[in-house]
Amino acid sequence: MTRRVLVLGGTAQARELAERLARDGGYEVVSSLAGRVGEPRLPPGRVRTGGFGGAEGLAAYLAAERIDALVDATHPFAERITGNAVRAAAGTRVPLLVLRRPGWTQGPGDRWHWADDLPQAAAMLPGLGRRAFLTTGRGGLAAFADLDLFFLVRTVDPPHPPLPRHHRLLPARGPFTAEGERALLRRHRIDVLVTKDSGGGATEPKLTAAREVGLPVVVVRRPPPPRGVPLTPDPASALAWLRRAAPPDPHG
Ligand code: NAP
Repeated sequence: MTRRVLVLGGTAQARELAERLARDGGYEVVSSLAGRVGEPRLPPGRVRTGGFGGAEGLAAYLAAERIDALVDATHPFAERITGNAVRAAAGTRVPLLVLRRPGWTQGPGDRWHWADDLPQAAAMLPGLGRRAFLTTGRGGLAAFADLDLFFLVRTVDPPHPPLPRHHRLLPARGPFTAEGERALLRRHRIDVLVTKDSGGGATEPKLTAAREVGLPVVVVRRPPPPRGVPLTPDPASALAWLRRAAPPDPHG
């Protein structure tokens, strides 16, 4: 029998893990997407879409589908699904791994200001600039709604209102380049950047561009990873964990 792995996805790393599992043999992978993005990039193998119905729903799914191991490869800021994964895995005794790419690190020339959440980021903005490039995703933008600044709002899919009073929407999906990001900052006369500490290479060029032109950046801190759960930074180490926690059956 092959081992069945459920990958909670919605990230490039989740797709890469699904690709590795599909290639590697010994595993059958089911990827789970929340269903928020209009045209998601799909991983190979089975894909299911939509919420499970909380931790209980996820636990029921793990049992019904006879899942041998669960990998939470969701975005570092997707806190609810991660909490559900921890509770569902504990209740069903399915081994759980959290796969989280490392956060970004500040280097020489960076002018970063750390915020604990979006409201704190919003409170910092008036002291830093007048024209902000907002790249924190489509949710939670209400935090910026009452500020009297201009916002260039870049999201993959249309953001949820309420939106900032003065804004321009920019639908786009990474990866981006430092050259493109520099041109964007110039074209919209941006003087401050707002980002989550998402990590990863696809959206990092905005930080390079901000450093090059000396812009301040408000960086929203990640929620801490769940305690007591193994954590790996990349798909290769996730695969190594799976080989230990749920080794493929040699006679399968
Ligand atoms: P969230 O707040 O942690 O989760 C909200 C609810 O959405 C969960 O309780 C769950 O519903 C459902 N859900 C989330 N991820 C799911 C998945 N992979 N498969 C099935 N159901 C899922 O999540 P979020 O921040 O809205 O993010 C949603 C998805 O977008 C995640 O998969 C994440 O990887 C991806 N994403 C998020 C961000 C971000 O900044 N937060 C950025 C890029 C991509 P039930 O309780 O009904 O199961």
